[in-house]
Amino acid sequence: MPNKNVTKMKIALIAHDHKKDDMVEWIKFNSGTLREHELYATGTTGKLVEKELNIHVNKMQSGPLGGDLQIGAMISAGKIDMLIFFWDPLEAQPHDPDIKALLRIAVVWNIPVACNRASADYIISSPLMTEDYDRALPDYTDYRERLTKRKQAG
Ligand code: PGA
Repeated sequence: MPNKNVTKMKIALIAHDHKKDDMVEWIKFNSGTLREHELYATGTTGKLVEKELNIHVNKMQSGPLGGDLQIGAMISAGKIDMLIFFWDPLEAQPHDPDIKALLRIAVVWNIPVACNRASADYIISSPLMTEDYDRALPDYTDYRERLTKRKQAG
């Protein structure tokens, strides 16, 4: 039964091909918790999660076709609260620049990110998952103003 005290978070799930088995094991183990939140994923990962858990996942394009960038854009828009991203450290990807961009933007907007199962276990079992955690939203006002001034100065 869903726990009414849990704040629904928007969780993005991505796994590279050699990490998909890890992701499947992890989501199965944590299915009870994941069902209480709203899930987003890159295309193939999303289909896998839907099949394994029989729950709805908001699916983006497949990673190499722009899915990582779509998740990144959602993070910038404040529409993703957490990223579980099992990327493959042993193989170059055709979309390596997108992966770097996604990880960068997750840091820019201070969302929790897990890149391996141990970190994902720590995050998902954190007491903060069931509290009203007020994530510090970085204030980029000064940065934007500096940028505008620099541009105006030519
Ligand atoms: P996929 O994309 O879920 O469509 O496999 C993951 C990725 O390679 O970024």
